[in-house]
Amino acid sequence: MLNLQIDGPRIDARYESFRSQVASFARKEILPYASEIYQKEIFPFDIVKKLAENGYLGIPYPKELGGLGLDYLSYAIAAEEISRVCASTGLTVCAHTSLGTYPIYRFGTEAQKKKYVTQLASGKILGAFGLTEPNAGSDAAATETTAKKTSDGYILNGTKRFITSAEYAGTVVVAATLDKSLGVKGITCFIVETGYKGYSIGQREHKLGLLASNTVELIFEDCFVPKENILGQEYDGYKIFMETLDGGRISIGGHALGIAQGTLDVGLEWLSKHPVKSQQVSKIIADVTTHIYAARLMVYDAAMKKDAGVRVDQEAAMAKLYASEVGTWAAGEMMRLIGLASLTKDYAVERFYRDAKLSEIGEGTSEVMRLIIAREMIRKFQAGTDKPDIFQKTK
Ligand SMILES: Cc1cc2nc3c(=O)[nH]c(=O)nc-3n(C[C@H](O)[C@H](O)[C@H](O)COP(=O)(O)OP(=O)(O)OC[C@H]3O[C@@H](n4cnc5c(N)ncnc54)[C@H](O)[C@@H]3O)c2cc1C
Repeated sequence: MLNLQIDGPRIDARYESFRSQVASFARKEILPYASEIYQKEIFPFDIVKKLAENGYLGIPYPKELGGLGLDYLSYAIAAEEISRVCASTGLTVCAHTSLGTYPIYRFGTEAQKKKYVTQLASGKILGAFGLTEPNAGSDAAATETTAKKTSDGYILNGTKRFITSAEYAGTVVVAATLDKSLGVKGITCFIVETGYKGYSIGQREHKLGLLASNTVELIFEDCFVPKENILGQEYDGYKIFMETLDGGRISIGGHALGIAQGTLDVGLEWLSKHPVKSQQVSKIIADVTTHIYAARLMVYDAAMKKDAGVRVDQEAAMAKLYASEVGTWAAGEMMRLIGLASLTKDYAVERFYRDAKLSEIGEGTSEVMRLIIAREMIRKFQAGTDKPDIFQKTK
């Protein structure tokens, strides 16, 4: 078994075995190309093909639908181990699995699952998710893409931006409004095949980080979507997107955790060749290790709760908030440790630093995560479920 040098909660041996399997794959098939695809901003088709061949594009989906038949904890561990060597590839896996595939698996009809999830989970096609627009990021109520009902389907018009993998996707789950005056209540979801007339790709984003992941604009110009491709019911879209994002945030937590661990790996490797003993070095290594350990507990706990069927909006938000902020901070700490060399392309720390910043924003910003956490705490307190004993009246 690969010696992975990680500290984390005690988990069943089958998860450690799965981690070892994914980590070996990542080191053999991704790591040798990670720096090159990043610097040249290349989307790694060959790697994606190998991910599909190994089942890593459908980890939490049933075997009968083309998946690996595992669970969310396995998926979070895979997101971590892949991102630990290449966060761009980690994002490609996460956006496909939890954003492009999950909503169809969870809310689709049997026919939609048979038609689309089988292809997505087996990696025959990539999936994408289109919510963000030029004027609608955190605030989905501002969605401007419209859906007009016709006798046999819907006509979509509008623009989406910052959509991961969409240039190479076979399907995109898209949010559009049937009635803008209703705000989020007007939003409806559609499964759009990327070959539909009226659908096209706009500009590519040249991002700060995650440079080997694909991020593009989507343009809908009188794009006809047949009525059987509505996802869920009319006006149900907001609920679908919110639940999708809750699950997605666990994997982005795993992704950010992988970035943080990847930077620590580089720092430890550097120290083994440049042994320095000082209180400052001990503090950096000890603090980074401790925060990564805490992030791992949070991400795994959120994944295990999701596997148990528990509502996880607060846990997912906390895991994503904490792990992504730890990722950015840990990369900064490794720069302090290594010094000038870490600012060059010779060390992956520079790459991880850029990548981590994006994970603080994608799938909901840190500010929005804090809003969700605070909202849930206040709701639970007011419902009386989380009141500490100190507030109970004594006789
Ligand atoms: C790498 C990456 C990949 C992505 N992939 C996808 C994808 O596949 N599909 C997709 O649909 N989107 C995708 N996105 C978009 C992403 O989800 C949005 O960036 C995110 O929702 C935030 O929206 P925004 O950037 O427009 O920021 P805005 O919503 O415009 O926010 C701007 C600032 O205001 C703050 N803010 C906003 N509202 C509040 C509030 N109520 N209270 C306090 N502060 C607030 C924000 O925290 C932020 O600091 C991706 C983003 C990244 C970085």
